[in-house]
Amino acid sequence: MLDQLRPEFIDRFDMVNVERLMRSGASFDQAYLGHMGSETVVSHNVMTSGMLPKHMGWSDEWYRDTEGLLGPVDGRYVTGSMGVDQFDTLIEDKGYPKLADYLHAAFPGTAVAAIGQKNYATYTMGGPGADMRITFSSRAYDCDGDGGLTWRGPTGVNVPSYISGPECNRFYVDGDKALDYGTLTTSPAWMYPLEGNRDLPGNDPDHLGGDIWVTDAAFSVMDNEDWSGLLLTYGGIDKAGHMWGGLNDVPPYPGADPQTHIAAAAKVADEQVGRLVDRLRADGLLDETLIVLTTDHGQQTSRRFFGVDGPGRGNYNWYYGADEDETYLDPQPQIQRLINRTGDNVEMSMQDSAIRTWLVDRSMPAKKQAVRVMSTMGGVRATYYRVGDRYQLAWRAPRSWFKTSAWQWWRQHGQEIVDTEAAPYGPDVIALLADNTSYGVAGDHGGAQRAVQRIPIVFSGPGVRARTRPGAPIRSVDILPTVLRELGIKRTHWMDGRGYPLP
Ligand SMILES: [Zn+2]
Repeated sequence: MLDQLRPEFIDRFDMVNVERLMRSGASFDQAYLGHMGSETVVSHNVMTSGMLPKHMGWSDEWYRDTEGLLGPVDGRYVTGSMGVDQFDTLIEDKGYPKLADYLHAAFPGTAVAAIGQKNYATYTMGGPGADMRITFSSRAYDCDGDGGLTWRGPTGVNVPSYISGPECNRFYVDGDKALDYGTLTTSPAWMYPLEGNRDLPGNDPDHLGGDIWVTDAAFSVMDNEDWSGLLLTYGGIDKAGHMWGGLNDVPPYPGADPQTHIAAAAKVADEQVGRLVDRLRADGLLDETLIVLTTDHGQQTSRRFFGVDGPGRGNYNWYYGADEDETYLDPQPQIQRLINRTGDNVEMSMQDSAIRTWLVDRSMPAKKQAVRVMSTMGGVRATYYRVGDRYQLAWRAPRSWFKTSAWQWWRQHGQEIVDTEAAPYGPDVIALLADNTSYGVAGDHGGAQRAVQRIPIVFSGPGVRARTRPGAPIRSVDILPTVLRELGIKRTHWMDGRGYPLP
C-alpha cells in the first residue's frame, strides 16, 4: 500500500520496481477507489474488510458517535486521532471479519502483521485480528542525548521485542519538529511540513525513518515469524504529494531539501517494492505469495485553492470543529461564510477535494438551507444532503462549467461514490468540487474527482498470468473478496465488494 500513489506517478517518477511488479501479474487498467471519503483513515479499512464506509463503522475524517459506542451519544471524534481500541470497537460492533481473520482461518498458527508509519493506517489495515500492529510512537525518547524527548520509537499492538528493544535501536528515529528540511519556511509545503524522519527517511544511516523503516520492520518480522500476511502501508509519497502538489512537483524546485519532493519520495517507495520482491525471492517464497499493490486514494494538484496558504495551516484548512482533545476553529474564508450564513449550524466539517459537513440542526429544512449556501461556495460543482442511506442531489453546476471528461466521470460515478458514505455517522451535507480544486493543501484527496479516484490495483503471484491488464472496474472494496477468491478462502460474512477472477 503506497499511500497516495496516483497511477500517473509510476511513469512520471520512473518507478521501475512497481512497473516490473505490474508486468509480473494482473494490473487492472480501469481500477478506481470507489468510495468517499477518499482518505487514508477510511480506505485502509475498506481494502481489508470488503465493506464500504457506510457499513464499516466510520466513513470520514470526522465521526459522529450516534450510537454512543465510544462515549456519549453524538460525541465527536477526529478519526485520524482515534486510538487502536476505538477503531477496534467500531469494527467489532459491525461484526465483520477482516483479511487477518481470514488468513488465520486458512493458515492456523501463522502470524499476520500490519506495519506503517501512520498509526491510524496501520491499526485499521490490520484490524483486531492482526497479531501485531507496528507503527511510530509519539515523541517519547531522547536517543540523541540532547535532553529533549524528540525521538519516536516503535509502538502499537504486540510490538515484538526484537523490534522494540533495546531502546534507541534502529527502529527509533529523530522526530524533532525542528527537523523540517526547509519545508516549514517554504510555500506551499509549510502548510503540512516535515517534522523529523517519520514520513521520509532522513539522513541518519543508523536510524532511517520513512518507507525504509517500514520495510526494515517487515524484514525483522520475516526473520522471526512464520507469517501468512504482511500488511505494509508506506506513507512517503503521501507526505510529499500533500506538501508540494504531485505531478507539478518537478525541478526547478521552489525551495526546501530536494529529498522532500515527490520524485525522491517515489524513488524511496519504489525501492521498497524492489526490496520486498527480492527478499521473497531470496526466502524462496515468491512462488507461493500473492502480492497486492494498491493505494488508498489518488490525488490532484490544487490549482484552484480555497485554503489559507501559511505555515501549519493544513489541519486548519482540512478540519473545522472540536472534539474532546482537539480544536480546529480557525477556518478559511469560504468555510467561515458557510458557518455565518447557516447561523452557526456547522458542528464540524472536513474539506479537501470535497466539502463534508456535519450540522448541529440536522432537520431536513436545515440540511436544505446548508446545501443552498454550499452551492454558492468557491469551486463547488454539486451538492447533496443525506436522506437515510443515500445522498440526494440538491444542485449541480451547469454543464458548461464542467470539462467533458469531468462531466462524464461525475455523471458515471458522482452519485455512486457519495452514497458510499451515507451512514448516520457520516456527513449531513456534501459538496463536490471541480477538478484540481481544493480547500486543504497543495496536493489533495477526499472527494470524487477522477484523479483522486483512479488508483492502481495489481495482483502478482502464483497462478496469476503475467502481463495481463483486465478491464474490469475493480474498486478498493473488491480487493479482499478478490484475494479470498484467488486463495480459495471461504467468505464467512456478507461484503459490499465482489471478488473478480484473476487471469
Ligand atoms: Zn492516504
